[in-house]
Amino acid sequence: MSDKTAFLSHLTTVLQGIDRDGLMKRERLITGPQGARVDMAGRRMLNLCANNYLGLADDPRLIAAAETAMQDHGYGMASVRFICGTQDIHRALETRLARFLGAEDSILFAACFDANGGLFEPLLGPQDAVISDALNHASIIDGIRLCKARRYRYANSDMADLEAQLIKAREDGARFLLIATDGVFSMDGYLAKLPEITALAERHGALVMVDDCHATGFMGPQGRGTPAHFGVKVDILTGTLGKALGGALGGYIAGPQPVIDLLRQRARPYLFSNALPPAVVGAALAALDIVEGADDLRTQLFANAAYWRAGLQAAGFRLLPGEHPIIPVMLGEAKLAQAMAQDLAQRGVHVAGFFFPVVPQGQARIRTQMNARLTQDDLDFGLEAFTQAGRALGVI
Ligand SMILES: *Cc1c(COP(=O)(O)O)cnc(C)c1O
Repeated sequence: MSDKTAFLSHLTTVLQGIDRDGLMKRERLITGPQGARVDMAGRRMLNLCANNYLGLADDPRLIAAAETAMQDHGYGMASVRFICGTQDIHRALETRLARFLGAEDSILFAACFDANGGLFEPLLGPQDAVISDALNHASIIDGIRLCKARRYRYANSDMADLEAQLIKAREDGARFLLIATDGVFSMDGYLAKLPEITALAERHGALVMVDDCHATGFMGPQGRGTPAHFGVKVDILTGTLGKALGGALGGYIAGPQPVIDLLRQRARPYLFSNALPPAVVGAALAALDIVEGADDLRTQLFANAAYWRAGLQAAGFRLLPGEHPIIPVMLGEAKLAQAMAQDLAQRGVHVAGFFFPVVPQGQARIRTQMNARLTQDDLDFGLEAFTQAGRALGVI
C-alpha cells in the first residue's frame, strides 16, 4: 500500500468512527434565502436554529444596501487592508461600530473567528496572563493557544474560581492580566456574570475582554450588548456581522485606541487575509441603522422568546432558565435529541440537536433560537410540532 493510500484509508477509518459514534454532521440544503421559514428538499420548514435574531438575513433594506455598495464600490477588494484594501466604507463601518459599542475605535476582520484568533498574540507576551472561562467559544481558545501569555482557566461562570485564578496569576508574577469570556454562552443561553467579572477585574487589576457574538444588536439598550445590558464597561469587545447584524460574515474588535492601532499593525488574520467585500460592509452599515433606529425588532424578538418559552413549559418540556432568545430543550441522551430532531423535521420544523462533546454527557438538547420575524402562527405551529414529537417519543 502506498503512503497516500494508507493515509486516505486512515481518514476513511476516522470518518467511519465518527459515523459509528453517531457524531456525523450532515448538511441539509436550503434552496432559498435564510429566514423564519426555509425551503429544504422541496418543503417549507419552520426554522428555529439560525442566529438570525433580528431576522435581517433576508431584509430588503440590507439587500438594497449591499447592491448599492457593489455599484459604488465594486464586488471584491483583491487585497488586504494595508496594501490597497481599505475603502472609505471600511473606515465608516469601523467608526460606526466603535461609536455604537462605546469604544474609541474598532477593527474589522473576515470573521469573529479571525478576530478572536488574532486578538491575544499581539497584545500579550510571556510575562502576561489570560484567564479564560472554560466554556469560551473555540475561536477564543484557539486565539489564546496562539499567544505566549500564561493560561489560566476557570470553571464556567464560577466567580470563586475566577478570583482564585486571578490571585494565582498575580502570585506567579504576571504583568498584565486579561479575563476573556463569551458575553452569552451559546449552548445554554446563559449570560456571563459581567457585574461580578468587572468587579473582580477591578479588584485584581485585570482587563476584561468579552466576545458578544450572541448579543450585539439585541441585548441591552439599543442592542449594544451584554455590557450595556448590565450597565458595566469592559475593555475589549469582539463580535460578528454574521449573526444579528445581517448574518453574512465579518467580525470586529472594539476597544481603546492603542489596542486597535497595535492590532492593525500586528494581528495576523488582519494582515494576511482579504478585506471584507463592499456589499457586506454596506449592508452592515444598513443593519446598524436599523438596530440603532428603533426597538421594534428587539421588542418582537423578546416577545417571541417569552411566548415560545411559556408554550414549551406549558407543554411539559424541561428548559434551562433565562431570558435570552436561545432556548434549549433538555432531553438527556444524545439518541433522544437526534430522534426528536428527526421527528420534528418530519413535522416541518428544522432544529438542531446538540450532544456530547459539544455539551456535557447526559445533557443532550435541542437548542431553539427565536427571531423577530417569527409570527404567532409560526410559533403555534412550532409548539404543536414539539408537543406531538414530545408525546411520540415519551418526553412529555
Ligand atoms: C459565532 C461565534 C463566533 C464566530 O463568529 P464568526 O463571525 O462566524 O466567525 C465567535 N465567538 C462566538 C461566541 C460565537 O458565537
